[in-house]
Amino acid sequence: MRPPDELTTLFRAQGRKVTAQRQCIFRVLHGDVNHPTAESVHAAARAQMETISLKTVYQTLHELTAMGEIAALDLGTGTTRFDPNVDGAHHHLVCRRCGKVRDLHADFSTLTVPPGAEEGFAVGGAEVVFRGLCRDCRRAGRARRPRTAAAAT
Ligand SMILES: [Zn+2]
Ligand SMILES: [Zn+2]
Repeated sequence: MRPPDELTTLFRAQGRKVTAQRQCIFRVLHGDVNHPTAESVHAAARAQMETISLKTVYQTLHELTAMGEIAALDLGTGTTRFDPNVDGAHHHLVCRRCGKVRDLHADFSTLTVPPGAEEGFAVGGAEVVFRGLCRDCRRAGRARRPRTAAAAT
């Protein structure tokens, strides 16, 4: 995603609406590594500017996605996640308990569909999602486990 001031220029050049609310959403998204939902973008934007509606957030996210400035991802967490990192191909780590998402930079270029398994598809690239437990959820899990049960395992 371009920096907020460049996005403002681009929106104006394309005849798209530029408001203080939209510019606030640009700032909230820029550099966000959490892969936020529309709701969490809304919460972060409202903390800076109370007049931002969820509708404005949805509309702005929709336009940014259509422009290729952010990616809308379904990572199996139940809600669409928005990723401002669209410059480099990357993969994702997903916590199966709390839905935390982080970028995973690793080279899986040797990952291929075995010959004969293409089902007639002209196969493109692969996006890899690793699921597990994030650090916070692992800590919470350890804290919850009774001492006696931990000793028994
Ligand atoms: Zn977690
Ligand atoms: Zn990402």
